[in-house]
Amino acid sequence: MMKSPIYLDYCATTPCDPRVVEAMLPYFSTHFGNATSKDHHYGWVAKEATESAREEIAALIGAGPKQVIFTSGATEAINLALKGLAEANVSQTKHIITTQVEHQAVLDTCRYLEQRGYLVTYLEVDKEGNLSLEALERAIRPETLCIAIMYANNETGVVNPIKEIGTLAKKHGVYFMCDATQAVGKIPIDVYADGVDLLCFSAHKIYGPKGVGALFLNNKHAKLPVFKQQHGGHHERGVRSGTLNTPGIVGFGKAAALCLQEMPNEHKRLQTLRNRLEDGLLKEVSGMTINGGANRLPHISSVRLHGIDAENLLLKLSKHLAMSRGSACAGLTQQASHVLTAMGMTKTEASQVIRISLGRFTRADDVTYAINALSRAIIE
Ligand SMILES: *Cc1c(COP(=O)(O)O)cnc(C)c1O
Repeated sequence: MMKSPIYLDYCATTPCDPRVVEAMLPYFSTHFGNATSKDHHYGWVAKEATESAREEIAALIGAGPKQVIFTSGATEAINLALKGLAEANVSQTKHIITTQVEHQAVLDTCRYLEQRGYLVTYLEVDKEGNLSLEALERAIRPETLCIAIMYANNETGVVNPIKEIGTLAKKHGVYFMCDATQAVGKIPIDVYADGVDLLCFSAHKIYGPKGVGALFLNNKHAKLPVFKQQHGGHHERGVRSGTLNTPGIVGFGKAAALCLQEMPNEHKRLQTLRNRLEDGLLKEVSGMTINGGANRLPHISSVRLHGIDAENLLLKLSKHLAMSRGSACAGLTQQASHVLTAMGMTKTEASQVIRISLGRFTRADDVTYAINALSRAIIE
């Protein structure tokens, strides 16, 4: 039997941890109840399971369980956050600030809101993918409703100065919505210390199942106005109706608990492996540059191989290695990465970039193999 290629695309999605699958299994059959069935045992069991998962998920971001709304993933959480804020907004504050390097879920939602009368400022980033806090503050106007900036970039791993953004948002009285899908479970997050009002994330990026995510709503002090985007039975405090995906949520909870527990060691381990990968490639491959500055997530490496067509290279290696040219979502449109072009690359330069992302099941041997296979394929 042919050996499966080594998976080095953990930013696109992660496999479910076997411990997560085990936790989920009883909730497909034995404990199949509807979490909102209030009159019998089956409902109570499901309710208890989703509420304990909610606590575990909240703990991962330093929030309380009452502030977590379950969704079908980060895309839905982002749509709910931005459209929900915009629809609940009855004032004349019709301005949103975001960046040019956000995930499509944010950018596409912002473009939709532009069609509905919103003005959107798309902040630039520098060559290393960093945004300017001065430019952000200058962009804030009296009519600004919210700032939508990601915690860490999904193509380069560049981490934004979230605390500083949170402070600016508070100073000017605007909401701060943060797409933290890549950062949650990888680096410590504390929504209160960070000053984030709405935080979006997803189970399948943290070794949980696909199709489940969460929106954190900071309504500790005043009720955050987010208008529902899905009408129905008043689930999730009326913000998101629909029967809860009990097995998915249980898996999400288990995945969150495992990340919280293993983060300190796993962070160090991945950073060591990632550095080894980058050092190894730099030694073997001439004409290679690493995208993004020093402040990156521990497991992502975005590298430009000068003069090499990334698509061909990845295809050539596809029997042995599974890596990507960038975001899996951008794969649907055939355009050059908007993140890389925002960082000043030409389309040709951007087509020479590969993203290698490591994860919980990556071993030192896999990294050695990747260095050798990549450098050989480039020389050939
Ligand atoms: C994966 C990802 C999303 C989308 O998450 P889904 O749960 O797949 O909808 C959004 N933002 C970022 C930064 C991501 O990496």
